[in-house]
Amino acid sequence: MSRESNLDQLTNWLQARYHDQTEYLQATSEIARDVIDVFNANEAYKQYDVLRRLSVPERIIHFTVHWLNDDNQVEIHQGWRVQHSGLIGPYKGGLRFHPTVNESILKFLAFEQSFKNALTGLPIGGAKGGSDFNPRGRSETEIMRFCQAFMTELYRHIGPNTDVPAGDINVSGREIGFLYGQYRRILNQFGGTLTGKDISFGGSHVRTEATGFGLIYMLEAVLETHQTPLKNKVVGISGAGNVALHAALRATQLGARVVSLSNSRGALLNESGFSENSLTQAIETKDQHNNILKALSDDGHGDYQADASPWQLNMDIALPCATQNEIDEPAAQKLVDHNVRFLLEGANMPCTTRAHQVLAENKIVYVPGKASNAGGVAISGLEMSQNAAFRRDSYSDIDTTLKHIMRSIHQQCLQEGQRDGEINYAKGANIAGFRRLADAIVMQGL
Ligand code: GLU
Repeated sequence: MSRESNLDQLTNWLQARYHDQTEYLQATSEIARDVIDVFNANEAYKQYDVLRRLSVPERIIHFTVHWLNDDNQVEIHQGWRVQHSGLIGPYKGGLRFHPTVNESILKFLAFEQSFKNALTGLPIGGAKGGSDFNPRGRSETEIMRFCQAFMTELYRHIGPNTDVPAGDINVSGREIGFLYGQYRRILNQFGGTLTGKDISFGGSHVRTEATGFGLIYMLEAVLETHQTPLKNKVVGISGAGNVALHAALRATQLGARVVSLSNSRGALLNESGFSENSLTQAIETKDQHNNILKALSDDGHGDYQADASPWQLNMDIALPCATQNEIDEPAAQKLVDHNVRFLLEGANMPCTTRAHQVLAENKIVYVPGKASNAGGVAISGLEMSQNAAFRRDSYSDIDTTLKHIMRSIHQQCLQEGQRDGEINYAKGANIAGFRRLADAIVMQGL
């Protein structure tokens, strides 16, 4: 069968079943396009139908969460866990609490997670979960009760060798603590079933910083390959969460000038670059503020503009660290107009398919999230092994391992994505992750 007909067949098959799941179809078709030649060239891959089998999650758990708000009223939310692939290790991936969460988004995130986790080289499968619960504006006791009710439904489906959730958007140390407390209470077991735990009860050093720091370690490797230093480069960042702030901090510590951060309500701009102190302050106090960027602006650390874009200043490097599809075609064009030369994704799938085309046409070096933001889940993998061995490794050992893992991912991207002097990081990452998963399918049989 020709290259196109295999690709068309898969696309049509997915379209017919999941036509309304747009993010999921976007993610699966982007990977399929990149790996189709590798698939077609391998008889075992075709015989075992690996592409179609990898496109569909192994299991989707859907439940309802009933909980009591501060006015003693019952609230009802939906919860999911998409266990995409357990081929190379326990299902592994974050939980997201956000009103936009639905099955399509979690399926695409779980699918991407399997490829990302494969790239880390660690024994971790891929999953994602979450709820349409919106923690914004909720009291801490409401968030705690919601987390407890959510875990009361989820606990039976997870375990240290089965499925190990972690954080994602709106789920960080505090929520992981509440979720873990409930899990431990129900099972009377202290183990590594969640990662991102506080250091005082089994968490790992560097886990909080890992996604943002890992993004900057990947950036260093990419810039080295392009023979240009990070020092004095101008960097724009979208987002104001854990990933964005730690990326901004590490880039600043390494001599770059970070000029923007953003949230859903506006952007904080500072052409001379944020100071290390202001970023540390933001990291330490973000949970106490409704709008940390506005608070930084009020303290004289930049100019917060409502409804503004983080891409409106000239910059060398763009790091989208907010959410999926935040960079559409006009935003990509804005990056081109402001001289961006490198774009590394801190968020999962922040660029639309049209944005990718604009970046490619303008020769912007593009690194997909599954490679550049894998640092977080990689350190989660190390948290799992530390928990299993009742051990805690030092901060500097973990930070060094994080650098090695990011460099190894960079190397895999080059190995699979470099042709005739051109580097296609997205294709490289997709092929490297695909080979590891596809080989596992073949070896494990049907
Ligand atoms: N949510 C993060 C990600 O997208 C981390 C997942 C984890 O640590 O399991 O990779």
